[in-house]
Amino acid sequence: MKVTFLAVLTGVLAVTVIGADRGSAEPIAAGVAVVDITPPVPYRMCGYYAQRLSTGTHDPLLAKAIVLKQDQQQVALVFCDIIGVSPDLAARARNAASEKTGIPVANIVVAATHSHTGPLYYGVLRDFYHDRAVAKDGRDPCETVDYPAQLAEGIVRAIADAQAALRPVELAAGTTQEPKLSFNRRFHMKDGSVRFNPGVNNPDIVRAAGPIDPEVGLVLVRGASDKKPVVLLTVFALHLDTTGGTEYSADFPYYLAQSLGKQFGDKFISLFGNGTCGDINHIDVTTSKRRSAGEIGAELADAVKAGLARLTPIERPSLAAAREIVGAPIQKYSPDEIAQAKETMVKAESGGVSFLDQVKATKIVDLQSRKGDTLPLEVQVVRLGDDVALVTLPGEPFVDLGLAIKKRSPFKTTIVVELANDEFGYIPTAKAFAEGSYETVNSRVVTGGGEMMVEATVRLLGQLKP
Ligand SMILES: [Zn+2]
Repeated sequence: MKVTFLAVLTGVLAVTVIGADRGSAEPIAAGVAVVDITPPVPYRMCGYYAQRLSTGTHDPLLAKAIVLKQDQQQVALVFCDIIGVSPDLAARARNAASEKTGIPVANIVVAATHSHTGPLYYGVLRDFYHDRAVAKDGRDPCETVDYPAQLAEGIVRAIADAQAALRPVELAAGTTQEPKLSFNRRFHMKDGSVRFNPGVNNPDIVRAAGPIDPEVGLVLVRGASDKKPVVLLTVFALHLDTTGGTEYSADFPYYLAQSLGKQFGDKFISLFGNGTCGDINHIDVTTSKRRSAGEIGAELADAVKAGLARLTPIERPSLAAAREIVGAPIQKYSPDEIAQAKETMVKAESGGVSFLDQVKATKIVDLQSRKGDTLPLEVQVVRLGDDVALVTLPGEPFVDLGLAIKKRSPFKTTIVVELANDEFGYIPTAKAFAEGSYETVNSRVVTGGGEMMVEATVRLLGQLKP
């Protein structure tokens, strides 16, 4: 493998800062909307390295949008029950939504929750299975609709509907702790290696190779006049791969929403954003007992409800948004390596290829859709008040990167959401790149890219801090 670090070509590609006048008298307004984005069966499902066809719907996949407005500033955030947002989808949805609503593209965030029980609608594996079906039958029986077009249209509708629902609100924000549900899935082993998911009670485990982030970020929106909770954003770093099976599901955030809905009523909307959980899942290697999605959602809901009592009202909202696009060096492979990777993908279908070899081959072929020597990492920061900021990042950053941003942020409360506007696999830390294992094999950036993203984020936070 040839990985080139092109220092000359790296750095800031674009910066936008759009701020509301501080001390504005205009109250903040918010609107929310939900659109069903569940594809028809038997659309292929995402998340693993084998073809899996959907057989039904456990709970509908949703795109949930919130639009915030103060003075002339508007920001839209959409949380979708899908594994990732492809760059094509992000561009299509954000451009169309911007045209329809007047909200600048730079102020629109389309994030995925990372549900592993959603559609496989983009990427190299989708193309592989789709092309094979078309070659065999002349058509793809799994794709009876143009799902990417429908998905984009659903996201645009959610943003437009949320904007149409704008009304004066009050905000409160803060954090609570939930240390029981998440686990760092990388471990130092007795042979000196680092392994991901080494198995329950593996006697060769020495210790976890990284931390978790037990912090749950919360932003509560209430009606300004009736004080009723309208929407709550919950952000927690935990891989959404706790359901499995062949039925569509939003995974544990569905159960979180159910529990919160019981407390706050039918009209209340629960938004879930994933924290930086590239190396975090729900597997406790010290026991064969595993929490179900329902148990995780219910326990998270209990922590959230306890945390709501301690939120700090944002007395003087000061909505502002800023973004920076960081050009992180991308991994490069030779034509021979690409040809070999294509062969490996075919071979892997009949078995006989190791998991990591399959992951690497898929990654190499997938990288060919990315042009240029850098991968644009778009960082967005939304300021809600003098002490509260929301950060959104692309891909699946390791937990340490999110923790570093929070630690260095000048805001008292900083909430970090991953998988915004692009999904290109993991963003490991430089430390993890040196250690290796699955997440580093399944990454498109080279070592140092994650740290560049952290620096850009801290810079933006500094610019927006009053
Ligand atoms: Zn993942």
